[in-house]
Amino acid sequence: MTDLQYSADWQHLMNADHRHVIHPYTSMTNPLTNYPVESAQGVELTLADGRVLIDGMSSWWAAIHGYNHPVLNRALREQSEQMAHVMFGGLTHRPAVELAELLVDITPASLQKVFFADSGSVSVEVAIKMALQYWQAAGEPQRHRLLSLRNGYHGDTFAAMSVCDPVNGMHSLFSQTLLRQHFADAPRCRFSDDWNPGDLDNFREQMEAHHAELAAVVLEPVVQGAGGMFFYSPSYLREVRALCDHYNVLLICDEIATGFGRSGRLFACEHAGIEPDILCLGKALTGGYMTLAATLTTDAVARTISSGGLPFMHGPTFMANPLACAVALASTRLLLDSDWQKQVRNLEAQMERELAPLRTLSNVSDVRVLGAIGVVELDQPVDMERIQPRLVEEGVWVRPFGRLVYIMPPYVISEDQLSRLTSAIRRVIRTGT
Ligand code: PMP
Repeated sequence: MTDLQYSADWQHLMNADHRHVIHPYTSMTNPLTNYPVESAQGVELTLADGRVLIDGMSSWWAAIHGYNHPVLNRALREQSEQMAHVMFGGLTHRPAVELAELLVDITPASLQKVFFADSGSVSVEVAIKMALQYWQAAGEPQRHRLLSLRNGYHGDTFAAMSVCDPVNGMHSLFSQTLLRQHFADAPRCRFSDDWNPGDLDNFREQMEAHHAELAAVVLEPVVQGAGGMFFYSPSYLREVRALCDHYNVLLICDEIATGFGRSGRLFACEHAGIEPDILCLGKALTGGYMTLAATLTTDAVARTISSGGLPFMHGPTFMANPLACAVALASTRLLLDSDWQKQVRNLEAQMERELAPLRTLSNVSDVRVLGAIGVVELDQPVDMERIQPRLVEEGVWVRPFGRLVYIMPPYVISEDQLSRLTSAIRRVIRTGT
């Protein structure tokens, strides 16, 4: 089937899409092709021309239970019959309180306070504001900078962008406006390598040099996502925690991508057995149904911020949206009631088995798998105009970027569906990207 078989109605919509709708990370006037999705069910996306694609992306880490899930649908429907939204200033509601209690229960024990934000990027803004207000209230306003890792990614808003990798994180475009932060070299010691203490040298140097002005360290624990899809040694994270304690710097862990089981642990911090002072969650929080994120922090941080009776200065209109909270509650309970550890372990073993043959190809520089994340790193950036239609023709939805062809499928994908995904990737990479 070719793209020419869209109905007249869809042709009209696609022309309008081309004329008026801005899509992410592509030209505003001559965008890459966008494929119209009519519906999604389980791990399959149905395109408007009838083609069915197996989803390898979980809509960017989010749809862990697959699409159109009856339990999540019911939660959404039932909440919509109570109320879709009420403001959160001066009011509260059951979905928010129950979700906060559940998140406090399943995240590291010291995290006791939950701020519900609109998106991952906003939850990072909130985390940064918490750190800054903390040091203001603690009488050390000179601690106003952040230290993060090269190859990190934390979102597209300004404070979040300021802690993204300074080279691949679009800093040059906005250099006049961006806050100036400090960066340590990206970890190189791989997840299952023996720990190499030298890997921490640059981070330690940065801490030694700048700790007096540091409010917080911001990082993605164990899995660096959009900045390179790299899995690093949990020992690195343990050492970072120790240095933060030593220099009295807060640690913000961004688990927006890794949270809810993706790395094989419910939260990636657990690989290192550490607790952050501030934790960001998003994406899979609602099982991919709608936008919601959460920033959690400790009683100690909260007490200090509000020590002079001061409020925390953030309050979005759609804070703790009841529909989103109700779906998040249903999604998280569904996950906890499932044997997700076994599902993720099986996906990890199968991806390792089925992607491993690519290691021998001359255009492949690395294949790595952790939990339900499989990554093929190429020696050259992909040509999106070429590779995307070929993946679609293979019947899979995989969205490469740069030199990375990667998958993080819904946990409910079957063995056969995952095989179809990996064999499509093998075929496409073998025939040139
Ligand atoms: N942090 C990480 C680690 C992410 O992967 C993302 C999203 N790709 C964000 C923050 C930003 O989240 P959002 O796109 O919901 O703003």
